[in-house]
Amino acid sequence: MDQKPAAGTSCLFCKIAAGAIPSKAVAIAPPELAKEVYAFEDIHPQAPSHILIIPRRHLASLNELGPSDAELVGKLVLAAQGIARERQFSERGYRLVLNTNAAAGQTVFHLHIHLLGGRNFTWPPG
Ligand code: AMP
Ligand code: ZN
Repeated sequence: MDQKPAAGTSCLFCKIAAGAIPSKAVAIAPPELAKEVYAFEDIHPQAPSHILIIPRRHLASLNELGPSDAELVGKLVLAAQGIARERQFSERGYRLVLNTNAAAGQTVFHLHIHLLGGRNFTWPPG
């Protein structure tokens, strides 16, 4: 399935990463990841902390990743870990969610990790 918009044009999160659409930026920890990774507050938070972590480069979904993206995926996850630590819910616990395509409820087709923290979560998820 091709859900790839021209990078930087029609994609909402490309525009957010470029600063063309405003967002509430979250400091990336460790900061050297910020070259490739951007993080911002979700506009409809589902937890006291609900942060979206995205690659600056356009990738429509997890399905688009290849072996050469392994380092990028690691950076996205490390950024989530760092932000969870900064927000001081690392020890209590937190949840990462990465919805892929329709059945999982993906609505924005620019790869993003949801970082949810600050409350208890149930399992299985809905
Ligand atoms: P998903 O359903 O996994 O594709 O998640 C998309 C997320 O993007 C949802 O949690 C939305 O609330 C969030 N979202 C959509 N538009 C914006 C925006 N302009 N700024 C911040 N978050 C947004
Ligand atoms: Zn994009």
